Amino acid sequence: MKKKIVILGGGYGGLITSRKLEKLLKDNEAEVTLINKHEYHYIATQLHKTGAGTASDDKITLHIPELLKTNKITFKKATVDTVDFNQQQVHLENGEKVNYDYLLLSLGYEVDTFGIPGVEENAFKIRSFRSTKAIYNHMLHQFEAYQSDKDPSRLTFVVAGAGFTGVEMIGELVEAIPGLCKKFDVPINKTRIINIEASESVLPGFDKKAIDFTTDYVQKHGVELMTSTKIMECSPTSLTLSDGTDLPARTLIWSGGVRGNRLLEKLDLPVEKSRVKVDSYLRVQGKENVFCIGDAARFMKNDTEALPPTAQVAIQQAEVCGPNLIAAIRGESLKTFEYHHKGTVASIGNTAAVGNVFGIKISGLFAALMKQVVEARYLFVLGGPMLVIKQFSKLQKPYQVFASQNK
Ligand SMILES: Cc1cc2nc3c(=O)[nH]c(=O)nc-3n(C[C@H](O)[C@H](O)[C@H](O)COP(=O)(O)OP(=O)(O)OC[C@H]3O[C@@H](n4cnc5c(N)ncnc54)[C@H](O)[C@@H]3O)c2cc1C
Repeated sequence: MKKKIVILGGGYGGLITSRKLEKLLKDNEAEVTLINKHEYHYIATQLHKTGAGTASDDKITLHIPELLKTNKITFKKATVDTVDFNQQQVHLENGEKVNYDYLLLSLGYEVDTFGIPGVEENAFKIRSFRSTKAIYNHMLHQFEAYQSDKDPSRLTFVVAGAGFTGVEMIGELVEAIPGLCKKFDVPINKTRIINIEASESVLPGFDKKAIDFTTDYVQKHGVELMTSTKIMECSPTSLTLSDGTDLPARTLIWSGGVRGNRLLEKLDLPVEKSRVKVDSYLRVQGKENVFCIGDAARFMKNDTEALPPTAQVAIQQAEVCGPNLIAAIRGESLKTFEYHHKGTVASIGNTAAVGNVFGIKISGLFAALMKQVVEARYLFVLGGPMLVIKQFSKLQKPYQVFASQNK
């Protein structure tokens, strides 16, 4: 009988694994089902652009059935409710049950608000395409409402966290806000972009050159940096800061940190620090037929440190997990996973970035181009050269709109 492989989550990990299975499985060797909440895959590493409205929706989302090139994989749009590991069954929210012989958990991340009062209810999150689109729609509404009530809190845009995602979000706001001011006929000096960070500097963990470049760049573009500052509370119209100040602001974009998908904690799994503990073959510890990769997985790179939740890790794990799933159904030996760090590049808008690639520190326009190369490589792995051309031809559209409004 054909073995059943079920993949939960169509993000970086789930999709690249699916593409691997399409390439490597023989016809009729296995029945593979990919289950994802939506029928589109969102490019999570570019979600900040959706939040600021600097990229069109079809640049950030890709239709999953179109990405699957063969009939070896069945796609199912559904939300996973739970998994019965004894019965080897996935339960979906629509009441359907899907049987598996081998299961892959690639359910990704959630935003961590650390229990700070009001943040969960009032802050905007860069979590999914929908949650990020809500930021842009809210900003449009604030500009519109400002025209009649002139309330300055409407034009105060706060990003919490100056880590990787926070800086990327700030960079997009710097590009988007002048365009919105033109559109709604609001003087730019009525707007504020504020970045609040608990650590002493932006990009904690990056080298000094990257920190200095980013600090100079955002400050030159009018961003108010509040480092060594914590948000203590958030209401729909204001924030309370650690120095006791009340900051009137109706837009808080929270990028204070991520955690594993909360669903994983409901399941009978070895979870540590909100992520599922996996062995060197990417199998869930103690479960030989269940694999877990990406942000959902806690893969130890040494005795004390786990790999970070990044797309780079998820993609590399998927490239090993696909062949390992096939080896498992064929009764062959599995490969151990080894991570090779190729670098990190954080964008600050469309024309600047900072980071290091293969150990070389880069910043400015060249780094921004490298970021595009990284994005292009992912599209290439996912859908070959045609997908790269298709998606990159969509790139300029929104910037042209904003550029012409800026004149
Ligand atoms: C703004 C931003 C910028 C980033 N930039 C970078 C970068 O430059 N480089 C880098 O390496 N990493 C970056 N990251 C991190 C990277 O996006 C994640 O590490 C990556 O998305 C993890 O891939 P994944 O497959 O584990 O999960 P995801 O890509 O999160 O995919 C999980 C999938 O599971 C689906 N899902 C979740 N719950 C359910 C359910 N109950 N039922 C059905 N489906 C479900 C989701 O809809 C989603 O499609 C960035 C993240 C953000 C937010």
